[in-house]
Amino acid sequence: MAHDWPMKIYCEPGALSKELRAHQHAGRIKLVHFPYDPDSRSRAVAPSAVLSDAQWRDLNTTWEELGGTWEDMKGSEHLTEISRIVDPSNRRDALHLDSAYKTGCAAFVTVDRDILDHRDELEQLLSIRIFHPELDKTELDRFIAAAAPLAAAELRTRIRKLIASGVLPKDPPPITRPGPTSTPGTRRSKTVVGGPHQEPCAICGEPGPQIQHFYIAAQVVRVHGACDTLWQLERAHGAI
Ligand SMILES: [Zn+2]
Repeated sequence: MAHDWPMKIYCEPGALSKELRAHQHAGRIKLVHFPYDPDSRSRAVAPSAVLSDAQWRDLNTTWEELGGTWEDMKGSEHLTEISRIVDPSNRRDALHLDSAYKTGCAAFVTVDRDILDHRDELEQLLSIRIFHPELDKTELDRFIAAAAPLAAAELRTRIRKLIASGVLPKDPPPITRPGPTSTPGTRRSKTVVGGPHQEPCAICGEPGPQIQHFYIAAQVVRVHGACDTLWQLERAHGAI
């Protein structure tokens, strides 16, 4: 099964580990969470999960803040079944799971006992892997590593097409610019690492690229660390 690149992982409040942060920083995964929980707004996790079933009592926001449409907020075909599996008294658990499913997440990281206790049933229903951030650390790392090669192969095909059509330059970045974080003083670098930036990645189209390459004619190519590595590989391959 082909996932989005980078693979989306749903991260519940209290489940954000330093390993997950590192994976995201490296561009291997994209963390998402349910955007309307109280106290769940974390700068490290994008509030981009698609809303599940709309019920005002579940939402920690106003209609104006919400944007979106009623269509986006309908529960998936699995919401009824999810609500049967998890404790009905905690409706938020079901909404989180349904939201992760609707967003296309490959994994769901949680410290919630009720969800972990029903992991087999839920994994089978939603085709989403469920992990505890600490207890299942090794399995989670393996899962992330195993998903990468397949996605990388897809991305390299895309990079070759982008180079062929001229969207991506064939050459390494020729212009030198001061790098504000990595090169203090008078040293110069041709690439600025920092961000994430608002513009989507030139290679995968997902938000949050951390690297900017500056070219002649004011062209700027913004890419994720992982996407940049693959692009370098393609450039090296094409030069042979
Ligand atoms: Zn990218």
